[in-house]
Amino acid sequence: MPRFCEVAVPVPLNAIFTYSVPPDLPEPCIGGRVIVPFREKRLSGIVTDLHDREPSFEAKSVQLVLDTTPALTAELMQLGRWIAQYYIAPIGEVLRTMLPLSAEFRRATGYHITDKGIEALHAASTVGSSLRARIAPEQQMLEYAVLNHLADGEVVRETSLRSATGASRAVLLGMLRKKWIAREDRSGVRDASRTIQIASLRQIEGKLNSNQQKIIDYLRAQPEERAPVPAIRKLAVSRTTLQTLVRRGIVELSEEPAEFRLSGLKPRKLEFRFTPAQRTALTEIGIAVQSGKFTPMLLHGVTGSGKTAVYLSAMQSLLSQGRSAILLVPEIGLTPALAADLHQVFGDEVAILHSALTDDERAEQWKRIRNGQAHIVVGTRSAVFAPVSDLALLIVDEEHDLSYKQEESPRYHARDVAVMRAKMSHAVVVLGSATPSLETYYNAQGGKYRLLELPERIEKRPLPEVEIIDMREEFQRSKKDSVLADKLLEELGERLLRGEQAMVLLNRRGYSAFVLCRECGETVQCKNCAIAMTYHQREHRLICHYCGFVRPAPKTCPKCGSEYVQYLGTGSEKLEHILHSIFPQARIGRLDRDTVRGRDDLEAMLSALQAREIDLLVGTQMIAKGHDLPSVTLVGVVGSDSALGFPDFRAAERTFQLLTQVAGRAGRGTTPGKVVLQTFFPNHYAIQFAAAHDYRGFYEKEARFRSWMHYPPFNAVSNVLVRSSKLEEALTWSGILGKWFQSSRLDGVRVMGPAAAPIVRLKAEYRYHFLLKSKSRQRMNAVLCAMIDHALDNRIPRGNLVVDVDALSLI
Ligand SMILES: [Zn+2]
Ligand SMILES: [Zn+2]
Repeated sequence: MPRFCEVAVPVPLNAIFTYSVPPDLPEPCIGGRVIVPFREKRLSGIVTDLHDREPSFEAKSVQLVLDTTPALTAELMQLGRWIAQYYIAPIGEVLRTMLPLSAEFRRATGYHITDKGIEALHAASTVGSSLRARIAPEQQMLEYAVLNHLADGEVVRETSLRSATGASRAVLLGMLRKKWIAREDRSGVRDASRTIQIASLRQIEGKLNSNQQKIIDYLRAQPEERAPVPAIRKLAVSRTTLQTLVRRGIVELSEEPAEFRLSGLKPRKLEFRFTPAQRTALTEIGIAVQSGKFTPMLLHGVTGSGKTAVYLSAMQSLLSQGRSAILLVPEIGLTPALAADLHQVFGDEVAILHSALTDDERAEQWKRIRNGQAHIVVGTRSAVFAPVSDLALLIVDEEHDLSYKQEESPRYHARDVAVMRAKMSHAVVVLGSATPSLETYYNAQGGKYRLLELPERIEKRPLPEVEIIDMREEFQRSKKDSVLADKLLEELGERLLRGEQAMVLLNRRGYSAFVLCRECGETVQCKNCAIAMTYHQREHRLICHYCGFVRPAPKTCPKCGSEYVQYLGTGSEKLEHILHSIFPQARIGRLDRDTVRGRDDLEAMLSALQAREIDLLVGTQMIAKGHDLPSVTLVGVVGSDSALGFPDFRAAERTFQLLTQVAGRAGRGTTPGKVVLQTFFPNHYAIQFAAAHDYRGFYEKEARFRSWMHYPPFNAVSNVLVRSSKLEEALTWSGILGKWFQSSRLDGVRVMGPAAAPIVRLKAEYRYHFLLKSKSRQRMNAVLCAMIDHALDNRIPRGNLVVDVDALSLI
């Protein structure tokens, strides 16, 4: 047995640590988890190497071996190393992100009573209890309760001690200082053979309130009218609602092994009627899979061309061969309805991974994949790390979607990781989109990716006609500053009269975008961010959309006290009100982050639309994403160009994508669709090409601009952000790095900055940044690594320095 192991622990340090392996422990393995002491804590880390080389210092010992077979296969370990190197991210953090098993290891602190504590307890007990209750201040009462709770000498975890006694952390710290109690690390592995509570519906009797009804309706919709309790908790009803139902005998709870699953479905053969283009794409994908060679492909299909059918069919043909596939979908694309469809198609062969799963559920899905019970994986960003064996096909749906980029460390892009994973596994990777990112289309143009095209909608349905309304002319003509153009109102009225459905996109939530004082000209800003706060009418308060800070809606200016405060700018909440006043008969629904709190809300709104319980849907970009709504025949776009005003070189691309995607919601059924697009920049090429459904035209124009400006896809860009809660620190540190960039040899890397970030203060931190551009990723990587070393030498904490390789967001 090797005497030492190298362990990657989840800390923001770019290092691996050596530990000794005590002979009485099971033998660890590379890619397996171990518990190790790290500073004052115990951490779960991944073994990256085993050896007998004695280190020059005294190595601490591994405390526990969690896996004797790898949790991360050699293939995934290799992928993790690539991510750490490419994105300049600490390896321990990368490996932790790849392995969703944190639920099995709980960090916890335990307390036990000391001899001094027992003395104190005795002293307190000799005073009569009633007297004590009268004279002891609250602090002493709590201390007494804690000592009493620990009196039998057992170690009690901090969480249970605090909930049993009501003592705060401060009380416990005070007692630690008096040496009445002692603390120890009680982190450990939880019992893996856990059970789960299942609720089943019994007799319904008596009156029910709406929350109780919500639970009943949910259970009724489940097979055998039973569901796991954690799923019911997600219905956003309070704990006591379920308890009441149990007490009244309406719902019964039982314990079942954690492997409990609702379906026992076998995969079902799909029957699709494919267009010739779909068939060609499928054949090409099939041939590439059979070749056993790394083949990256771009599936460029217009909206409504049937990309999903191609994905499902391609994945299903792998099942009979016993091989595996992963389908990545954007954050919002994975609705419960899609999950249900996938279960229908793939039965128990599919594992679904998304952000709404609890840690335990995620770990369970992960184990099913690892054990080879599920060969098909569908999930959001982190599903790219699913531990499938014999990976043949990786698909990234809506590959241009921003949710594939993780905006915290490690800042990886799941699409690019998917391509790298496919390369390492000799697999096929299909990137699908109606509006491919410039990077991906550039690769297809240059022959790096094979281009598959679906140029037509299924059943030869036409793409919607797009009419551009120049809002400057509209203002000239009507002399009023209206949110909705007459033409759009007219078209909406017609649709409502004909009993068809319509959608209106306004990509800004809330009621009024900002609050302005007429007297001093100030807008009400967030106290944590350099951003105007948005008025939300229903809550009657101002909310910061960046940090969530809330304040009451002011009647007078917080700055000068003037009464002339004005609420300006329109958000989706106000648009709903406006439409309601114009079309009082219409049933209007709204889809934005205020109305959609969880996956179920989105689902409920979409099915209401499908069931024609809603005539008109208002919303933010949420309404633009992938939903297939056959009865929508009109899409209105209000304030379509707001993104064009942002200081972001991707603004035109984002506008083009958003407009094309939302236009794609119109006319997916038998009636042709129409789009009315209101804009202040009717001649902007992003708007012109979107209206003409001309992706190629847009790409060529945008590519020329990117090339001149040395932006992606022609150059790599990285954003380096220096942040601190103290302005002085942020300035000093960015100054130190600025000097270093100036005095270093950076051949081939251009550096811009330091400059104040577009949002100079965010979440109570001041932010300055540098933008790096280079034709050579290698050079850029070397410069960034050297810069980090210089920063650490100058005592700039690593946590205050954000290095974002291939940055998507520059705010
Ligand atoms: Zn004022
Ligand atoms: Zn804020």
